Formats: sequence, C-alpha cells, structure tokens
Amino acid sequence: MHFNPRYPSLNSKLYHQQQPSPLRGAKAGHFNEALADELQWSEEDKANWVEICSGQKTFAEFTPLAMVYAGHQFGQWAGQLGDGRGLLIGQILNQHGQTIDLHLKGAGSTPYSRMGDGRAVLRSVIREYLAGHALNALGVASSHAVGFTTSTQGVQRETLELGAMLLRTSECHIRLGHFEWINQYAPELLTEFTQKCIEWHYPECLEADNPNLAFAKAVIERTAIMIAKWQLVGFAHGVMNTDNLNITGSTLDFGPYGFMERFRPNWINNHSDYQGRYTYQNQPSIGHWNLWTWLNNLIPLAKPEHKEQFKHDLATCLEQFEPTFLHHYGQGLCEKIGLPHFHKDSLDCSFAFLRILQTEQLDYTQSFIRLQNKAYKALRDDCLDLRQFDAFLHQYQGIRNNQDTDELDRVMQSANPHYILRNHMAQKAIELAERGDFSEVDRLFKLLNQPYQKQPELETEQDTAPLPSDVPEISVSCSS
Ligand code: AMP
Ligand code: MG
Repeated sequence: MHFNPRYPSLNSKLYHQQQPSPLRGAKAGHFNEALADELQWSEEDKANWVEICSGQKTFAEFTPLAMVYAGHQFGQWAGQLGDGRGLLIGQILNQHGQTIDLHLKGAGSTPYSRMGDGRAVLRSVIREYLAGHALNALGVASSHAVGFTTSTQGVQRETLELGAMLLRTSECHIRLGHFEWINQYAPELLTEFTQKCIEWHYPECLEADNPNLAFAKAVIERTAIMIAKWQLVGFAHGVMNTDNLNITGSTLDFGPYGFMERFRPNWINNHSDYQGRYTYQNQPSIGHWNLWTWLNNLIPLAKPEHKEQFKHDLATCLEQFEPTFLHHYGQGLCEKIGLPHFHKDSLDCSFAFLRILQTEQLDYTQSFIRLQNKAYKALRDDCLDLRQFDAFLHQYQGIRNNQDTDELDRVMQSANPHYILRNHMAQKAIELAERGDFSEVDRLFKLLNQPYQKQPELETEQDTAPLPSDVPEISVSCSS
C-alpha cells in the first residue's frame, strides 16, 4: 500500500487516535481482491487481509483515528457525534493516484460511542458489503468494502448476534456534519478545514474567484447527481441524517437501506423511521434540506462586511439543486425507458409508465427489463387498469416510431439492471453466513458485479421473480 496520511495533518481536536480492539475468534468472511488490486495492495497485504480486516494488523504509516462530527438526525439537532464504532486506519493511493480512506467498521468503542458498544454485527456488515459493491457496479458513487471478517464473539442487539468487522473504502469520510461540529464547538477551525476540503476534494475550485462559493456549488451538484442516481436504481438510503452524507456526493452509512421492489414511492424501508422522513420519494427534498442546513455553517467563512452578499450567493447556489437533480433524473429515466431525452413528450410518457407501476404495484426493476425485452403483453397481463396501460403503450410506440430504436435499445441495456440487491437475497446470504457458510455471499457478490448483464448461470428464480402480492417487503432497523 502507498500511504498518504493527510487527515492527521488537521487540528487534533478533530479526531482521537487509538488502535482497533479485535474481536475474539476473527475469521474470513469475504474479500474483494479486484478492489484490493485497484488500491495497490501488495501480495503480502492481500495474504494478510483477514488480519487487516479484523483490526489485528495496523500500519506504521498511519495511526488509526476516530473522527468527531455532529449532525441533524431525523431533522433534529443531535449535537456531537463521531466515529463511535469505526476507525480510519489508513489513507492510501489507488491506481489512479487518488487518495482513498480505509475505514474499519466495528473496531471497538471510542470517545464518540455515547451509549453504543462500538461493534457491528455480521448481519449489517454483510448488508453493507453487498450494497456498496452493488451500487458501485450500478455506477452509483458509494463507499466500497475491501473485505469483512466474522468472529465468535457475541454482540447484543435485540438478540445475541455475531460480531464482525468491515473494511470499507471511500474517497471521503468528511460529512456535512463535520462542518456542523466545527461551527458549534471549534469555529476557529472553519477556515483552515474548508481550505483542506477544497484542496483534497475539489482542487479545481481553488482557481475560482471565490473558492468557498465554488466549493459549495460543487458539493450541491454532486449531491444532486448522487440522489438522481439513487432514484433511478430504486435505492432508498434509509437514514439521510446530515452525519451520513459526505461532501463528495458518494453514498455513505446506508445502514437500513433498501432497493425498492414494488414501485411504492412512499415505502418506508427503515422501520425506525416512524414518520417516513426518509422514504424513497422524499430523498431529493431531504438532500436539499441537508444541504441548506450545511450551507448555514459556511456563512462564517465570509468577512463581516461580505456576510450578507455571501449568504445571498449561497442561497443562489442552492437554487441549482432542483434543476440539477431533475436534469440527471429526467435524462436517466428516458434512458431507462428507451425514449429520446430531447423529445418533448418523453418525460410525460416516462411518468405515465411510473404511474402504472405505482397503481398496479409492479416490480420497478423487472418492469423496465420487460419493457426493454418488449414483453408488452406480459406487462399488460399484470395490469388491472388496461385502459391506462394501452394509452401508455400507444404514446410510447408513437414516440419511438420515428426514432433510431437500435440506438435507444442499446442505451436501455446499459441503464436497466437485471439484478438489484433485494432484501430477501441479502437475508438468505446472512442466514447461511451466520452458520459459517459464505457461498451465498460469494454468489451475490459475483451476480451483482455485472448487474446489467443477464447471467443465467449464476441467477436463481428468487433474484428476479416479483414478490407475490401477499408478501410484504422486509423493513430493516437502524440499530445494527
Ligand atoms: P449511524 O446512524 O449508524 O450512522 O450512526 C449514528 C451515530 O451513532 C454515529 O456517530 C455512530 O458512530 C454511532 N453508533 C452507531 N452504532 C453504534 C455502536 N454500536 N456503538 C457506538 N456508536 C455507534
Ligand atoms: Mg453514520
């Protein structure tokens, strides 16, 4: 590994250095060798992956640390938070010269653990491992784990579960909540911290007349694009608190996430989300709310005489969130449905299709695949309101009639996954893994590696068959 330890160059108020505390009986779960290669792990590093992914081996080049941050959780100010069960154990260069964080989740308690035990359980580690892999393969920026280990140590949740650790990578673990912590507890650090965020993550903004404003604009843009991609693949993050969104628009901390099956925009996948704040359909507006909260923390960057102007400029930047989101979402939706983005009726027709999926409670992912396969009869046979379907198909074929459909079909194939990580797929892999059998984790890992390719040799019927109408979707809890 080639280290570039830059976070420790920040003021020491921003972190606490400590070693991981390993679990009893640590053993192999699963390892992503291709990612390790991208991260320039040596043969020796790869041979030691279990020790590295279980906190038994750390590196002389980097003293592990827990970051402090704050945040708004479910819309309420939560005060100081921080890495309560994870440590940054390295910052290394990947093949492209980009600095990547290695964050070991479940590494023991830290000064920021509050009431928690500092641990992660096998169930949630497997869910995060597979989802990060699935999102990356779908083309959605996300943290991505190199490997995970299990153990023989019990960890108490609602029941006694197995403790586990996950070594995840991300280009950035700096959260919107870092700025909230600084604003509240150490405002003297704001200018330098922002400067470092720009240098590390948005160096192009240094050229701008006002780098801070350019930074704000860039974070808003990347977040809008990330959320547009979530909506397109049917991903619900589940816990979009300000401490769970980073500043580079790369998906992070998606504990109780879900990939939507039936198209139900108001589906609550996180069962601790009593009010449905973080439903699929709310994600864009929550993204906007989080960014608005975050921007307030940047205001002190302006000199007193420029403050009013800066506030106004930040508000103007935020106005771009919605059009940026809509542009990317609209374009992606047209790609999925196989209509040209420039045609004036394409979006209208795409929304007509989504309305059918919603009223008929059809499977989101597989309905787009049926459309792609021109299985119109199969789609129609699943509808009760045939007039609605026929009107859609008439409009749809009318728009496609005068277009280069070969090209539209090619675009559709790279926009519609055959496979997403449905909750029951993860659940089956977890149940086997809890008995020491990781074969299903491995199968899903391979299947989800190429979601846009049909893989008959790897798939099972349950990977794609729509849920029977009397079976509810599983919802997942936060506390794992
Ligand atoms: P999350 O919603 O999972 O991102 O967690 C919110 C906050 O609670 C973060 O500061 C976590 O580090 C902390 N936390 C969550 N679970 C635990 C745990 N088991 N032990 C200690 N801290 C935890
Ligand atoms: Mg978190």
